[in-house]
Amino acid sequence: MHYVSTRGSAPVLGFGEAMMTGLARDGGLYVPETVPVLTQADIAALAGQPYEEVAFRVMRPYLGSFFGDDEFRGLIDAAYKGFHHAARAPMVQLAANHFLLELFHGPTLAFKDFAMQLIGQMMQAALTKSGERVTIVGATSGDTGSAAMEAFRGLANVDVVILFPHGRVSDVQRRQMTTPVEGNCHAVAIDGDFDDAQARVKDMFNDFAFRDGVRLAGVNSINWARVLAQVVYYFYAATALGAPHRAVSFTVPTGNFGDIFAGYIARRMGLPIEKLVIATNQNDILDRALRAGDYRTNGVRPSISPSMDIQVSSNFERALFDAYGRDGSAVAQLMAEMKTGGFHISQGALETLRATFASGRCSEEETLATITRTLAETGELLCPHSAVGVKVAEDHLGATPMITLATAHPAKFPDAVERATGIRPALPPHMADLFDRPERMTRAPNDLAALQALVRERIAR
Ligand SMILES: *Cc1c(COP(=O)(O)O)cnc(C)c1O
Repeated sequence: MHYVSTRGSAPVLGFGEAMMTGLARDGGLYVPETVPVLTQADIAALAGQPYEEVAFRVMRPYLGSFFGDDEFRGLIDAAYKGFHHAARAPMVQLAANHFLLELFHGPTLAFKDFAMQLIGQMMQAALTKSGERVTIVGATSGDTGSAAMEAFRGLANVDVVILFPHGRVSDVQRRQMTTPVEGNCHAVAIDGDFDDAQARVKDMFNDFAFRDGVRLAGVNSINWARVLAQVVYYFYAATALGAPHRAVSFTVPTGNFGDIFAGYIARRMGLPIEKLVIATNQNDILDRALRAGDYRTNGVRPSISPSMDIQVSSNFERALFDAYGRDGSAVAQLMAEMKTGGFHISQGALETLRATFASGRCSEEETLATITRTLAETGELLCPHSAVGVKVAEDHLGATPMITLATAHPAKFPDAVERATGIRPALPPHMADLFDRPERMTRAPNDLAALQALVRERIAR
């Protein structure tokens, strides 16, 4: 299996290299050269299998010979054994034709654990073999950072530096990043928003001297391995509801477009997904882009679903690459136009996108009202991100079963949940002492040179 860049002028890589590299050297993102298609019989046979078995069968075709089969099974088992639910990704029913896929039973209570726990295992195995050491630098709107710290803390061959927007993550999210005691974990609060943090990480990757000097690796959803791990639960959930004999749709609370892009890959692998519905909060660039064909940033407004407070959705580039007929130079040109605030999507590309994706937006008031109403109608306590998904899904219900992704546990965002319901959700037992643990973090300006100096200093321990 080979991986190519969405901008068409970076080296073609194998799975292991693509995983360790993160961002391509031409600024693009790696995607598989061809997407493997499972037969309808293969898909039907996934129904009723344990999550780990589905994970093995769905991901195996992407790995080439990088891991042996037994080794890969071992890594998958290790990745998910720390989850606090036997089903890993259980589903509950909200209404006659509406289901909620709970992706928050991992160690840091958000769906990011599904990919990060597995990448932690895979990177550790790869680095142990090669004897190398890497520096992971990631940007987070809150959940990627906590999941990465949890997955990599204490590992011998890895330093992990996480940049998060100061004052714009929830207390639980921040504490999950600032309380690991291991010396290889470094939490950095920058003066800026998530888009600034993500831009500085991309700058570090594009500074080849720095990148090679510190042996930079990435775990943001620009990393293909992360998207791949998320493809699994689309198969797991859809086959539980009767796929491939019956089509389903998914609604996905979206920020960086990584999670929903995984659904797109599942669809290209042959899973009968009718529509993938993009659900955004008031930071609605993706909804506007799909409606009007104009992808244009107009500044991030902090919301009660902070993990989606994003205006530069990195993984949208991967969808554009396909929508533009895999023309890397066309994508490179669009991304160059981003520097002036946005670009126009061609009519042909827009129609291609609309064949797969629908979209909707949920205001702050609607988010709170959805949390209140869903509790009353179903007894399910939603986090604000999941509520954005549920609201937008309700606007898209039809004859096809709808599965909405619940991306985080309500206890991760207790303030919004309490405002909507009067109930302050408690942290699960394994995290009950989070607010008693001492915090350790560094404040830093939104400045590339200063951040690079900080990274160098931290890894020189
Ligand atoms: C990261 C995150 C999202 C957005 O996912 P993307 O892959 O960035 O689109 C939504 N909800 C929660 C809780 C998250 O942590």
